[in-house]
Amino acid sequence: SKIIIAIDGFSSTGKSTVAKQLAKNLNYIYVDTGAMYRAVAYFALENNLIGDGFFKEDDLVNRLEDIRITFKFNETAGFAEVYLNGENIEAAIRTLKISKYVSPVATLSAVRRKLVEQQQLMGKDKGIVMDGRDIGTVVFPEAELKIFMTASAETRAKRRYKELTDCGHELSYEDVLENVTTRDHIDSTREDSPLVKAEDAIEIDNSDLTIEEQLDTIVGLAEA
Ligand code: C5P
Repeated sequence: SKIIIAIDGFSSTGKSTVAKQLAKNLNYIYVDTGAMYRAVAYFALENNLIGDGFFKEDDLVNRLEDIRITFKFNETAGFAEVYLNGENIEAAIRTLKISKYVSPVATLSAVRRKLVEQQQLMGKDKGIVMDGRDIGTVVFPEAELKIFMTASAETRAKRRYKELTDCGHELSYEDVLENVTTRDHIDSTREDSPLVKAEDAIEIDNSDLTIEEQLDTIVGLAEA
């Protein structure tokens, strides 16, 4: 029978790559919760609620009703892309700029409440792979399988740097590394739902594992 698979971990541990493939293999739904937080950060930037040196937290909280996040499966891409109020923002949220503002936005309890509620609804029929920071601890504490992915900061920054430059972004490795470590710090020290490994999560350090090896491990655990 179908289960809920929660995949949490630090930034750029390759959670989404594995989660996407895992969902495909199991014929499950995949939900990228980071994309939802990125969508809120995108909204905040577009509406001048956050920027260099300012963050109008109360104004953002007051406008949460104006934010409608949806996913629509893209056959060509092979996964569900994220939409903000009907606009496809899948590519627009994968920038270093969004990565800089997303973690402060994700500290707000009102933002988390809204997104967690939506995530719980998406998983109510099980058969779902969800990745993020608080899936095994807050969104689905009852998930049948919880994975906590880790990898060294350098491995992670290198992966993210390659991903971003492959997409044509011009940036330096140092900026990517700095963003990854800053986000990890904010995510693990925030008051509401900090990033921690759930007690019953299985830790996988994938620094030296191929995607195939990770998939084999997780599919094995899911079938056990
Ligand atoms: O997964 P991704 O790197 O796209 O997530 C972007 C940011 O969104 C994270 O650094 C974190 O601040 C926030 N996030 C979160 N809770 C989640 C998923 C993401 O706080 N479940």
